[in-house]
Amino acid sequence: MTQTDAQVIIIGAGAIGTACAYFLSRLGIKALVLERHYLCAGASGASAALITIGSTHPTSDPLDLLRFESHELIRELGNAFDPPIEMIQGGSLYAITNENEYRELRRYFDRTEESRDGFRFMEGEEVHRFEPILGPQVMAAYFNPKDFHVNPFRLCEGYLNAALHRGCRVEYGITVHEVTTKNGRVDRVITDQGDYYADWVVVAGGAHTPQILAKTGIEIPIEPARGQVIITEPCEAMTGRILFFPDHLYVKQTVRGNFYLGSHTEFVGFDSGITLDKMTVYSREFSRAVPLIGKLKVIRFFTGFRPLSADERPIIGPLPSCPRLVVASGHGRNGMCYSAGTGKAVSEFISTGKTTLPIKAFGVERFG
Ligand SMILES: Cc1cc2nc3c(=O)[nH]c(=O)nc-3n(C[C@H](O)[C@H](O)[C@H](O)COP(=O)(O)OP(=O)(O)OC[C@H]3O[C@@H](n4cnc5c(N)ncnc54)[C@H](O)[C@@H]3O)c2cc1C
Repeated sequence: MTQTDAQVIIIGAGAIGTACAYFLSRLGIKALVLERHYLCAGASGASAALITIGSTHPTSDPLDLLRFESHELIRELGNAFDPPIEMIQGGSLYAITNENEYRELRRYFDRTEESRDGFRFMEGEEVHRFEPILGPQVMAAYFNPKDFHVNPFRLCEGYLNAALHRGCRVEYGITVHEVTTKNGRVDRVITDQGDYYADWVVVAGGAHTPQILAKTGIEIPIEPARGQVIITEPCEAMTGRILFFPDHLYVKQTVRGNFYLGSHTEFVGFDSGITLDKMTVYSREFSRAVPLIGKLKVIRFFTGFRPLSADERPIIGPLPSCPRLVVASGHGRNGMCYSAGTGKAVSEFISTGKTTLPIKAFGVERFG
């Protein structure tokens, strides 16, 4: 049996688990992170880590508030963490390739006042002068200056290192089998290396969260949503912008010069295979969208599983039957964006029972 001096056990060392550890440590709360593989072994390591914001101002939707707060926090941390998180603040460009998209985006842009904040709608030649690497079929584009991207490994390493510095601990190679509860309290965390005890448990197991909590009798509606990714060889710096194309395809160039090409969403369970179908579509679409990419060598393919909840919104909050057993998962396509806001909210909840952001809307009880 393994006794720990940590007040909180966090299951999973992805973006969400490490962000929780970081924000808990800022409040002086020691956590122990249990991870079955290594840092960023799950979706976080496969992610493009695009930190997107969508518009200039948040609405009152709690998801919008989470996104805006998180965006700001990550930008601040990007300047504070050492080693740097390889933040590239070039904004994003939504490329439009047909009349339908054109009309839709033009209408959206005309309705909003976003042009005031550096948001721009561009057409024809102007787009190609602005972003010369785009292919000729791009007829218009919408520029969002606030979006940026980071290295996902560096962001998680930044969260975790800062937490370790303040007394948090991490153990790798520990697979959690289940969390047991007794009389509405956390009883123990049962792992392949023995049992662990702490007052609080945060389950941040990504797409595996439902299995970890299966024996509590509460069904957590999260599904693995596969994304296949292509990485090219590095080349000279061509763009600092995130380039979005129709049908959820996007490109970013990393600090080292590699292009990251991703990614459709597929529901195939935990099948981590790379399919020729998808690679064929990607090769065709990406070489048309950014012709220089067609000339580059591919150096790596991989897949990742986004933890997608039934309503595509994160699940953040305690289990109704056990108030100190907290779920922090289901962030789907946006877990890197939401990581800091989630970590902050979880840490506040554990510390005081209250949160600055209204997280009630993210409770698991919404699923009935
Ligand atoms: C291809 C792709 C591209 C993406 N691009 C973006 C993007 O640009 N921007 C964005 O915001 N989001 C993006 N996402 C989504 C984002 O990556 C996820 O939402 C986020 O990483 C989820 O983080 P997590 O910590 O919840 O899960 P994970 O990163 O999956 O971490 C969970 C961890 O728990 C561990 N674990 C699981 N079961 C156990 C167990 N039983 N015992 C111990 N440890 C366990 C796993 O090994 C893993 O390390 C992308 C995802 C994919 C797949």
